[in-house]
Amino acid sequence: MFAIFVVTCIVAFLGYRLRSLTLSGAILTVITGVLIGLSFGWFGLYLLGVFFSTSSLASKYRSRDKVSVDEIVEKTGARDAIQVLANGGVGILCALGYLLTDDVVYLYMYIVSIAAATSDTWGSEFGVLAKRKPRFMFSFREVEPGTSGAVSTFGTVMSVLGAFMIVCSSLLFVELDLALLLALWGIGLSGSVIDTLLGATVQRKFRCTVCGKLTEKNIHHQVPTTYVSGWRVFGNDAVNFLSVFGAAMICFFVFG
Ligand SMILES: [Zn+2]
Repeated sequence: MFAIFVVTCIVAFLGYRLRSLTLSGAILTVITGVLIGLSFGWFGLYLLGVFFSTSSLASKYRSRDKVSVDEIVEKTGARDAIQVLANGGVGILCALGYLLTDDVVYLYMYIVSIAAATSDTWGSEFGVLAKRKPRFMFSFREVEPGTSGAVSTFGTVMSVLGAFMIVCSSLLFVELDLALLLALWGIGLSGSVIDTLLGATVQRKFRCTVCGKLTEKNIHHQVPTTYVSGWRVFGNDAVNFLSVFGAAMICFFVFG
């Protein structure tokens, strides 16, 4: 238990020093890590570590080519506490469920939640680098890279690989037969699908009155943006949380 606490603190501190986490993000990472470590042991921390390290590498990868995307997405740079909760909050719920019931379904849900978060992160971090502009769900119109609710072929391939990588990484600690592995992969991937659907429909979008760009930001070019579509309370963090939560719930109903 003490070792888990120490390792979690070191990781959070490194994340803070490397500017992957804000101070609030680092504190919440410690809380998340300790709860997950308490419930799932070293496996829980290991899987969280695989998500963290590969997602950080993905966002640093060709970051200079992603500058235009920073104009569109709501939050950029270091992750704050709300962002950590949006991605890890479901992991905390799974950890609590497993602690209280010892039911293996919560372990599967945990794997699915990390797979969904990784799939989504890889999809957006790599997808914005696609040579062709992404197409918006439903309308299939080309939009700017980084627009929520839009998909590119490269981004889709990477999100499929991201979910697969997490489920395969679990094999080091957890025994999964082929059918279970494929099921967890597919359910993890459903998180990305939910994310895209919510991003295309209910996520709030604004337009800059200066440059005319569609954006998720309240302020653009130092001027408040005007509301275009979506629910005003529904930002990127809510969409992330609900998509991971949705995938975990699908897992619960399949295996519970
Ligand atoms: Zn602007």
